[in-house]
Amino acid sequence: MQILSTKLELTQQVAACKRQGKTIGLVPTMGALHEGHASLVKKAVAENDVVFVSVFVNPTQFNNKEDLAKYPRNLERDAQLLESIGAHFVFAPTPEEMYTAEEMNSTFVYDFEGLDKVMEGKMRPGHFNGVVQVVSRLFYLVQPDRAYFGEKDYQQLAIIHQMVERSALKDTFGDLKIIGCPIVRQADGLAMSSRNERLSESEKKLATNIYRILKSSVESAKNASVREIEQQVTDAINAIEGLEVEYYEIVDKTTLLPAKDFSNAIGCVTVYCGPVRLIDNIMY
Ligand code: AMP
Repeated sequence: MQILSTKLELTQQVAACKRQGKTIGLVPTMGALHEGHASLVKKAVAENDVVFVSVFVNPTQFNNKEDLAKYPRNLERDAQLLESIGAHFVFAPTPEEMYTAEEMNSTFVYDFEGLDKVMEGKMRPGHFNGVVQVVSRLFYLVQPDRAYFGEKDYQQLAIIHQMVERSALKDTFGDLKIIGCPIVRQADGLAMSSRNERLSESEKKLATNIYRILKSSVESAKNASVREIEQQVTDAINAIEGLEVEYYEIVDKTTLLPAKDFSNAIGCVTVYCGPVRLIDNIMY
């Protein structure tokens, strides 16, 4: 496995793979890797000749400077994990390598058909603009056949699908396939996340209530309306001292608009556990 830090090295390796007719899988990450990321990489290794994993804490998708500063970073450990599961290349650039000063402060606004106006988009203005800025650049540099994203960040996955399949940019991505991968959880149900590293032991225990409550709401949904379940889940999580719901919305899986019933619905939650903002979701 090779670690690449410049766009030039990256594009040279990509060109060599293309010359040899190899298929390319790409897994974009922000590092501090765990089993959730590993599941994406393993799938990519199984389905492509060559796999590139990017490890880049993208400053343009953080609207909170403290969150960016505190984001865990450990390239050495990440590289060990990636090598052990068969990745071929790690692309780990600096922000200055990725962006010009102008791009770092870009005010370009993408059109996501409203998918960015709800939930995470509403709470973190500009977040998805930054995500699409970095992901579209990685697609352009790596020219992958397949790119892998977790359902843990469900709204992000919906927006990437929209960008590649329906946006004005779609022709620039050729036949690229976006592959969504299921959420990997700890044995106690907590969705794996790099941000879990910032939780204390007692907060980690508290956080397991999030999935427990989400899961039990699927059963309750048989006898209740969408709005009732939203309220029940919110109240049940808020009743636990140390947890505070920012939003719980049950939305249509494709449009992300409020669901009228449970037929094509996903419930998306954001919870503060102490100072750490956790996200999770459940399909109904
Ligand atoms: P991040 O490093 O948080 O930007 O995540 C990189 C990719 O890994 C994204 O596509 C995430 O959705 C995915 N991911 C993160 N955590 C998990 C998890 N627990 N299960 C599955 N995919 C995940």
